[in-house]
Amino acid sequence: MLPKPFAAAKPVLEQIEKHNYKAYFVGGCVRDLLLDRALGDIDIATSAPPETIQKIFPKVIPVGIEHGTVIVRHEGESYEVTTFRLDGDYSDKRHPDSVQFIDEIDKDLERRDFTINALAMDLDGDIIDLFGGRADIEKKVIQTVGDGYKRFTEDALRIIRALRFTSQLGFTIHPKTLEDMRALRGEIESLAVERITNEFTKLFAGVHVNRAIEYLKELKIGNYLPVFHKHTDLIDAIPSTMLPLCSFGEVISLFHLIKPEVSIEVWVRQWKVSNKIKMEAQQLLKAYERYQKNGLDLMLVYQLDPGYYDGFVRLVNVMHPKSLTTDEMASVAGKLEIRSRTELAINGHDLIEMYPERKKGPWLHRLIQQIEAEVAAGNVKNNLKDIKDWIKWNPHAID
Ligand code: ATP
Ligand code: MG
Repeated sequence: MLPKPFAAAKPVLEQIEKHNYKAYFVGGCVRDLLLDRALGDIDIATSAPPETIQKIFPKVIPVGIEHGTVIVRHEGESYEVTTFRLDGDYSDKRHPDSVQFIDEIDKDLERRDFTINALAMDLDGDIIDLFGGRADIEKKVIQTVGDGYKRFTEDALRIIRALRFTSQLGFTIHPKTLEDMRALRGEIESLAVERITNEFTKLFAGVHVNRAIEYLKELKIGNYLPVFHKHTDLIDAIPSTMLPLCSFGEVISLFHLIKPEVSIEVWVRQWKVSNKIKMEAQQLLKAYERYQKNGLDLMLVYQLDPGYYDGFVRLVNVMHPKSLTTDEMASVAGKLEIRSRTELAINGHDLIEMYPERKKGPWLHRLIQQIEAEVAAGNVKNNLKDIKDWIKWNPHAID
């Protein structure tokens, strides 16, 4: 019987099989099913070529068609469907130079990184396990499919992926695999940075992040990573109170707090992180600075995007264990007079009416900013009368 979490994806496999091609659930979703872990994405492997998948399904996004991967949209869900393939060399350290589509799943499973990820499951829920993946899941061990030295030479990202899986799953790394990782760790330097950042984002978010950090230290992986290779003490300086950090913005904020001479701009540039992550880190650090000076006050909570509250709590608790809770954040947020400037009881028009003799100019913007700060900080109530009174008693505000 097909396990429940796969029910919504079942029609996709059925549809492919109806056209006389083979199709399986594959990789992380089968692993996570056996671990009783919440499934991430459901990936599908098939003997059907990508062009055929495009014909079979009405909504297909050709995300990586040259490597045999398309996304099938079905009932509001996305499924990555990849044609069985053999990989050529990875000379650009990003993608295999060539791929060869094949008819059977065996060789497709053989190209996969770790035994725990080289599992496939058919429509009946029967699992294909050619490399002892199930046993490794039971033993909680990560080991490569085939010779590690060869597999890490093909793609050194697998070294980082092994560490990422230790963090997510709490598994240990098989001694031989670990030895091969040590031998080839220098190859990490030639990888495209975005691939590294992607895996490290998951690594730092893993429940067992401290286990991964122990491996990072043991293997001295920092020597081969952007920024860390210049600051070789950084990984050792991660506090023993480290917690899973759900966003890379939190991660670079933490490293900036540990080593303030490395600016956020340097992290952003060298790890090629997005502008969104950069802005998150800047907000978190601004809030953190204020927290150190004033504790958790209204202004801190006002200025911080509510989407970052949880991340801020995590960051504070890594630096000062168990010192802040999300409930405390929520309770202060509940006391805010306003959530944004647009909620102010006074606006530019009101102020111009109050001072008809004054020309429009920068004074107006400055005044609104000051009123906003006073109201947000809880010094002035958010109503017209109280705000007008405040202006009267603070005549310098309109200078
Ligand atoms: P997650 O739950 O984080 O999505 P995952 O195991 O599904 O974990 P993905 O990065 O989504 O990991 O990759 C899907 C599958 O593709 C893996 O399970 C593995 O079988 C294979 N795979 C991915 N990257 C590589 C790689 N660099 N080398 C070999 N196989 C890989
Ligand atoms: Mg996946």
